[in-house]
Amino acid sequence: MNGKIIKGIAGFYYVDVVESGVYECKAKGAFRREKVKPLVGDNVEIEVLDEKDREGNITKILPRKNELIRPAAANVDQALVVFAVAKPDPHFHLLDRFLVMMEKAEIPVVLCFNKEDLGTEEQIQNLQEIYRDCGCRLVFSSAREEKNIAGIRKLLEGKTTVIAGPSGVGKSSLINRLTPEANMETGAISKKIERGRHTTRHAELFSLGDHSYIMDTPGFSSLYVTDIEKEELKYYFPEFAPYEGRCRFQGCDHIHEPDCAVKQAAEEGKIHPSRYQNYVAFYEELKGQRRY
Ligand code: GDP
Ligand code: ZN
Repeated sequence: MNGKIIKGIAGFYYVDVVESGVYECKAKGAFRREKVKPLVGDNVEIEVLDEKDREGNITKILPRKNELIRPAAANVDQALVVFAVAKPDPHFHLLDRFLVMMEKAEIPVVLCFNKEDLGTEEQIQNLQEIYRDCGCRLVFSSAREEKNIAGIRKLLEGKTTVIAGPSGVGKSSLINRLTPEANMETGAISKKIERGRHTTRHAELFSLGDHSYIMDTPGFSSLYVTDIEKEELKYYFPEFAPYEGRCRFQGCDHIHEPDCAVKQAAEEGKIHPSRYQNYVAFYEELKGQRRY
């Protein structure tokens, strides 16, 4: 039987099999000799030992599409980066840092501004302008008023999505809205998972049904930029791309160089000044070798 690891606690792995629910499994079999540690998000083969008690063994880890280190997770298809339209106002520096990291990791982003109900027309329009060309899908939602939840669910369909963003923006509220009651854990397995829930918070996938999973990652909000050379930073701002190669100097970093097409585009508002300013700020950080 094939399933997906949705949680791991103290040597136990909880494997969701779409047709038949969750099994509590141990890692047995050939892959253990290869020293591959199962990760949340791994697609695995299991053998069921006890159908009634829902226990089994993982016998094989299927090939991984990718592997994140922090949080430790495999086969992540995309990130849902959540900020609030207001209360709290979006912290653009932090937001752009998220986007750079995701570009670097080659993880597509759905950028969600929640609490749309608290935003003015101007606030919403401003966000649309800043992030129009950032290369990610832009959505607005209200977990409170249940606005655009169906639209978000559609974007998550068949995918494993990590959700990231500062606290207080409505991530838990969105997850609650997105998780259909029918898919909540029930019976024996619920007790088993509950055992671990009160210890530490581990990375955990929630099934949204139909092979859609969402991961709430507490540590994710403090993700940091590493291993980025200041010279490559410009490639993580997709809206710069149309101007690349139009600067006077080859290899222009778009900072202080004369006749810089990117800088000019920012001055003319073709690239949003907020995005350009954060680019410059990150560049200066990397130049100063400060690492987060
Ligand atoms: P998290 O820390 O990102 O998981 O945020 P929570 O889901 O805990 O939400 C923080 C607070 O914002 C709670 O008081 C929620 O009721 C509230 N909240 C969440 N979503 C919305 C929304 O769309 N509109 C409004 N007005 N409040 C919201
Ligand atoms: Zn330039």
